[in-house]
Amino acid sequence: MIQLYIPLNLLGVVYREMKQSLTDVDKMFILLDEKREVLDAPGAQALTGSDFTVRFEDVSFDYEPARPILKHVSFEIPAGKTVAVVGPSGSGKSTLARLLYRFYDVRQGRITIGGQDIREVTQSSVRRAIGIVPQDTVLFNDTIEYNIAYGRPGATREEVEAAARAARIHDFIMATPKGYETTVGERGLKLSGGEKQRAAIARTLLKNPPIVIFDEATSALDSANERAIQSELKNAAQGKTTLVIAHRLSTVVDAHEILVLESGVIVERGTHAQLLVKQGRYAQMWQLQKIEDSE
Ligand code: ADP
Ligand code: MG
Repeated sequence: MIQLYIPLNLLGVVYREMKQSLTDVDKMFILLDEKREVLDAPGAQALTGSDFTVRFEDVSFDYEPARPILKHVSFEIPAGKTVAVVGPSGSGKSTLARLLYRFYDVRQGRITIGGQDIREVTQSSVRRAIGIVPQDTVLFNDTIEYNIAYGRPGATREEVEAAARAARIHDFIMATPKGYETTVGERGLKLSGGEKQRAAIARTLLKNPPIVIFDEATSALDSANERAIQSELKNAAQGKTTLVIAHRLSTVVDAHEILVLESGVIVERGTHAQLLVKQGRYAQMWQLQKIEDSE
C-alpha cells in the first residue's frame, strides 16, 4: 500500500511540474502534433549565473540527414547586445531561433548560454531565460488576459495591462466586446497579424527574460504595420541579449553584428556601416529595400 502510494504521489508532482513548465511553444508543438526530440540529460541542473551571453560554436544542423540546413555557424551575442540575422527565405534563420530555444539539439558544435552548453542544463530553465516573439504567434482559445499573462503565470491584471500598454495593444483590447476577458484565437475573436505580434510582445515584456528572440513577421504584417511595431520591439529588447531575425533592414542598423545567412552559411558579417562599405550581399539588400520603401 505504502509502496504504491509513494510512486503515485511522485507521479503527481512530476505531472504538475510538467504542466507548469509547458510554454506556449510547447503547447504549439502539441497542437501541431510534432515530435519533440529534446530530452533533459540525466541529472541535468538548471541554467545558473547571471551571464546571458549566447554563443553558437560551429553549429551544424539538419531536420533530416539528407538535407543539411545550417553549416558551421559561429557567432556570439554578448550579454545585453543585439545580433541580427538577415537572408533569403529558407536560408535557416528561424532554425537558429528554434535551436537556441532548444526545440531541437544541434547535430554538431554547441550552443552555450553564459558558457553552459544548453544540452547539459534543463530545457525548462533555458526556456525560462528566453522570450520569443515568433514569426506567427499562435493564440490560445482563451481570454486576451490569459494569452498575455502566459509570459508570467500569476501576473496581476495591472501587470498584464502595463505590458499591453507598452506593446500598444491596450486600446485595441479595450475596444473588444469584453476587454481583457474577450476570448481570442481560432474559436474566438480573430486578431490580425500585427495584433497577434503585439500580444506576443506584451507577453514577452511581462515575462521579462534576459534573452529575447524576435522572428520578425513577413507575411503576417504589411509594411506599415511592420514599421509601426519597431519601437515596441526595441523596447522589449532594451538591455537584453537579443537575436533578431530581421525582415526589414531598418531594424538591424544598430545591431552589434549583422549576419547574412544563405543556404545555412554565414556569407557576410559585420556592422551596418562595415557591410555597406563591403558592397556585397547586404549592401545590395539595403539598396533594394530603399527602392521598395520609396515606391
Ligand atoms: P528561414 O527562417 O530562413 O526562412 P527556416 O529556418 O524556417 O528558414 O528553414 C530552413 C530550411 O529548413 C527550409 O528549407 C525549410 O523548408 C526547412 N525546414 C524548416 N523546418 C523544417 C522541419 N520541421 N522539417 C524539415 N525541414 C524543415
Ligand atoms: Mg523564418
